[in-house]
This record gives sequence, structure tokens and C-alpha cells, in this order.
Amino acid sequence: MTTIGDNLRLTISPGSLSLQRAEVAPRPEGWVRLKVLACGICGTDLHLLHGMKMPLGAEYPVHPGHEVSAEVIEADVHSGFVPGSRVVLHPLLPCGGCDDCLSGRENHCASAEMLGVHRAGGLAREMIWRADRLVPADALDPDYAALLPDAVATAYHALRRSNLPRGGKLTVIGSGGVGTNVLQIARAIDPDVTIAAVVHSAGTAKRIEALGIPVVQGLDGAGRAMRDRFGAMDAAIDFSGAEAAPSEAIRMLRKGGRLVLGSVRDEKVSLATTWTGLMTREIEIVGSYSSTIDDLRAVTELVGSGRLSLAGLVSHRFALEDVEEAFDVLEKRPAGMVRVVVTT
Ligand SMILES: [Zn+2]
Ligand SMILES: [Zn+2]
Repeated sequence: MTTIGDNLRLTISPGSLSLQRAEVAPRPEGWVRLKVLACGICGTDLHLLHGMKMPLGAEYPVHPGHEVSAEVIEADVHSGFVPGSRVVLHPLLPCGGCDDCLSGRENHCASAEMLGVHRAGGLAREMIWRADRLVPADALDPDYAALLPDAVATAYHALRRSNLPRGGKLTVIGSGGVGTNVLQIARAIDPDVTIAAVVHSAGTAKRIEALGIPVVQGLDGAGRAMRDRFGAMDAAIDFSGAEAAPSEAIRMLRKGGRLVLGSVRDEKVSLATTWTGLMTREIEIVGSYSSTIDDLRAVTELVGSGRLSLAGLVSHRFALEDVEEAFDVLEKRPAGMVRVVVTT
């Protein structure tokens, strides 16, 4: 076990990143001291490195890492966690007392803090996190467990937001990590569902087709193409962030169908339809943001029970000492890259 003085953690300021020795914050009551086992990195970490507008209450320098699987070092006696048990961390730290928190919508909590942005994250040997934001994950490979808090739980949340009926029809636009997970989760939950994907590149088309999922390549005309092949969709979920995605999605929906927007994009959304078009067809358009701890519990259970496989999703692994190289790979997106995980 490392002692406090041995903790190594990543510090990011706009344009620079460095590994530094630093003490772990003391563990308040209700919190757990953790040894990080694996921490995924994603576009959010790149945005931090490039210098992004920080959310309220956060400032540079930051200690990133919000996709964490870990082992408990020390916890309160009645916390339910004992030293040596393995967990995954939900990356949001909500207040726990507002109406949203009390209604199970803690991802709406106005004062929620984010792991690796407001609070020191998992690109470190050790860290602390609140016990009520941990989910037991003893049965899982820690490298793959690190995918659950972001790429998988976010996908699950978006699927919930789609209100897809049993045996329904779903198209996912954009099938990087999160989009692929939406498709796999939909099929794991309901084998009778009809799923299809709209993808950009031939490489992605091949990868998705290898999963037995039909693909339309190219967004132009995708709405019509989907309708021709499968009939109108109950739901469409976008993780492409492409400008034409919402309008093509609306074209493929049935009356009363639902479009879920899951991409981060600061431009105005273009629907390329009329008020009447939306009104008479009673199209629903909703956002999907992050996930709740119940979503994280659900995907941990899906993977633990073997119903959902994450095989092939970790394409690159790096030791914490080589974290700079990990960011380099993430930046360059070499062919075949899916998720990048840093292990400690
Ligand atoms: Zn992430
Ligand atoms: Zn709250």
C-alpha cells in the first residue's frame, strides 16, 4: 500500500500536464479512501487540457480522471465498504438535498460537482470519494469497470430517455464508444428490439456490422433510408453531434416518436422542419445528460451478470507514469482506437 506521501497525481493547466507528488486530501466522515485501479480518459479530459470554460465552482489547475474503478483502502465502519472491496465511482457529486436529488434526478442537481473537474480525480494512485457515490464491482475486471461510469452509464441513461417500448425500433446516430454501447445495451435488455446505426466512416460501419447490427453509412438521406429498410422508428438517439443529425433523425421517426440529443455541441440546433411538422406528428425532442447512480448500478449489474459484454472496448492501456502518451493517443485517434485506460 502506498503511504500518503507517495501519492502521484496528474495536474492539468490549459496546455500543460504534469505528474506530481501530492498528499491525498484527508478523508471526511461519509467518504472512502481509494486506491485507483484503472481510470479511463475521454474527450472531456482533452477539453480540460486544451483549456475550456470551466463550470461554476471549478478552476484550473485541475486533477482529472472521472472514469474510475478502485479498491477501498479505508471507509467508515457502517459504510458497507470494507478494505479490499472493489468499486466504480459515479462521477457526479450531487448535494443530496434538493428536489432533483430527492427525486432520483441527481444529474439535474444545480450544485453537483464533477469528479476530475471540481474534485481531484482518478489519474492518481489514491483519492477519496463519497461513499454514496460508489457502486460495488468486485466481480469485474477493473480495466473494463472503468468504462462503466462514463461511456456505458451515459449510454444507458440516453436509452432510458428514449422511452423505447419493448420490441421497439431504435436508430443510433454516431457509433463511437457511447453510441455502440447504446446499441449493445438495448439488445441486452430486450432481445426483441430492432436496432440500427447511422455511421460516418467505412471502418465504423464494418465494426458495427460485425456486431450483427445493420448500418446506414452517411447521414445524407439516412432518415429516408432507415424508413425504407425498417419502417418508422420509435426512437432515435444522437451521439454524433453532426449538424444534420437532428433533421435526419426526425425524418425516420414515427408519429409520437422521440429524438434524444446526447452530444455536446455549442451551436444552435437545426431541425430543418416546420412547427406544423413537429406539431402534427407529435415529435418529442429531449436531451440526455450524464447519468444517475441508478444507471451506473444497472450497467454494473448487466456486465456482472454477463448479459452485456464490453469485450474489445479497451483498445489502449497505459501506466500512470506514461499518462502523457495516453493523452497523445487520445488526441491522435489512431485507427482502431475505442477507449483509452490508464492503470495504476
Ligand atoms: Zn469521460
Ligand atoms: Zn441536489
